[in-house]
Amino acid sequence: MTAPMTKLSALPAIDKCHIDRRRYPHGVAFMDGQYLPMSEAKISVLDWGLLHSDATYDTVHVWNGRFFRLELHLDRFFAGIERLHMRIPYGREELTSILNNCVALSGHKSAYVEMICTRGSSPTFSRDPRQAENRFIAFAVPFGSVANKEQLDRGLHVAISETVRIPPNSVDPSIKNYHWLDLVKGLFDAYESGAETALILDANGNIAEGPGFNVFVVKNGSLKTPEFGVLPGITRRTVFDLCSEIGVPVTAGDVSTAEIKLADEVLITSTAGGIMPVTRIDGAPVGDGNVGSVTRHLSDLYWRKHDHPAWSTAVEY
Ligand code: PLP
Repeated sequence: MTAPMTKLSALPAIDKCHIDRRRYPHGVAFMDGQYLPMSEAKISVLDWGLLHSDATYDTVHVWNGRFFRLELHLDRFFAGIERLHMRIPYGREELTSILNNCVALSGHKSAYVEMICTRGSSPTFSRDPRQAENRFIAFAVPFGSVANKEQLDRGLHVAISETVRIPPNSVDPSIKNYHWLDLVKGLFDAYESGAETALILDANGNIAEGPGFNVFVVKNGSLKTPEFGVLPGITRRTVFDLCSEIGVPVTAGDVSTAEIKLADEVLITSTAGGIMPVTRIDGAPVGDGNVGSVTRHLSDLYWRKHDHPAWSTAVEY
């Protein structure tokens, strides 16, 4: 026997303020060959992207009307699509112009721009992923950051969760993905201990990464970032490029929990916020508890690169 359908009139009334929140954030999306207001961009509940997290994506940002390191984001996105045996009907140039149009139509001068490919669904509801029609979506919304202004000024308070990041032999972290249950669990652990965000561990008990960011420790003037089981972030890569430009040593390797707690400085990196200071870990100060000079220097340099033509591309509004 099928369950009776809920009558529409039985649904709670939606107040105006609820509608406004659902419409946030303001921006423009592209899907099925059309540009749409963000609030109208919707996918089927049968999409494997939703049902199985079977999707890859990338996020690039626009700052003062320029994409930052767009080519690197496109490389990572196309590589992920290929490794997941997906296809999109657009080449690199078409994708670039779709992303440009989303930003231009939104009018945002500083934007968070996402490109997504989901497995989609099969017209016959087949369980064979090869039968699915892959779906491409892009959108531009206002720029968002992992850390707010106050946190950027005084440094983030982070807790190390015992949660283990999904290992690379289960899900290849170089394919940017939405397998976030471990990261979300880490966030709740962090909130419980009074911190603002989390770092979680790799399968060997070393530091991996956090919800939407990579991490670096600074010790005696050298930087180190975890190598195993993390997303090779574009901002992380940018730290390597900046360090090489200014002659600061930087390596990728294991970072133990003891090591991070003894660091002179700790910083996190993400397209959503750039290079951001961490000044407390598990309630204890990092170094002297203030934002360190290496972090400040790299962050200043990072933002200065945003109007440099070798590092950024103008949006055509
Ligand atoms: N690690 C994870 C799990 C992420 O989701 C992200 C970004 O979303 C990062 C690291 C940072 O990568 P990027 O610097 O390319 O933004």
